[in-house]
Amino acid sequence: MPLAPSVPLQVLDVPWLRQAEVEVRVLRLDLLDVALSGNKWFKLSGYLQWLQQVGAKGLLSVGGPHSNHLHALAAAGQRLGIPCVGLLRGAPQDTPTVRDLQAFGMQLHWLSYGEYRHRYRADFWAHWRARYPDYLGIPEGGSGWPGIFACKDIASLVPEWTFDGWWLGCGTGATLAGIVLGDLMEHTVYGALAGPLRHQVPQQVAAWLAEAGVAGRRPVWVEACRRGFGRADAQLQAFMTETEQLTGLPLEPVYTAKALLALREWVTTGQVPAGSRLVFVHTGGLQGRRQIMGASGASQGVPA
Ligand SMILES: *Cc1c(COP(=O)(O)O)cnc(C)c1O
Repeated sequence: MPLAPSVPLQVLDVPWLRQAEVEVRVLRLDLLDVALSGNKWFKLSGYLQWLQQVGAKGLLSVGGPHSNHLHALAAAGQRLGIPCVGLLRGAPQDTPTVRDLQAFGMQLHWLSYGEYRHRYRADFWAHWRARYPDYLGIPEGGSGWPGIFACKDIASLVPEWTFDGWWLGCGTGATLAGIVLGDLMEHTVYGALAGPLRHQVPQQVAAWLAEAGVAGRRPVWVEACRRGFGRADAQLQAFMTETEQLTGLPLEPVYTAKALLALREWVTTGQVPAGSRLVFVHTGGLQGRRQIMGASGASQGVPA
């Protein structure tokens, strides 16, 4: 993986932005790599560096049956010849993502919801580390410090445009924390929450930023969850289709479409002043839309 990728910054030309005189450019992290795309590319590069430093044999991580994180991990493992283990949530399922994980050679274990719930406990990891000695455990979504630090690099990908703020979809908030840490210009960072407030992402991010010594750099949180994490309602689906037809920008329903729809809501309700310039971070994840979009999703440059 190259160290300093170059990523297109696409002007988003849609009527709701023109009318409000707000300028948005999309940082297309989804175009980094077909199988290893978006913010997961950055997070994994942090973990791969750590793996080399400690001389671990393989990587072990957790996720759901549509997980972008496990997908990127398995793809990286296959390319670099690093054995990877995926601990999956729930009863065995056959999803496009799971089929890819198998094709990439990832060793899969299906955990009951009860077992999966213990994934934050030390004895959970002790059990799997005993089973896979010398493997490095990666928290769900790649959201530990190696992942956060690697996301600092995202902040340096927009060198030649003057803008006012970042806008991105958040799951754990690790990517957002990395951008806050990496952005020496201290632009405002808007985090659109893909999950419910009870996931306590703002609290977790505040704790990370305090630990990193920048407790004063507070993101602006935007509620974008709608009907629940991973749920795509009809308005969201229609917005995705409409945006793609207007601009050619492919989105997925879990993070990027929710984040952009929340931006439209803020813009059309006057919460973003005229003249503002924002960088919308396309965090990737297009592989995950195959399940929800059916066959049409598979033709959008996602791995077959
Ligand atoms: C994983 C993921 C996110 C969430 O990233 P966090 O660092 O956990 O906030 C956002 N967008 C996409 C497409 C993702 O795959």
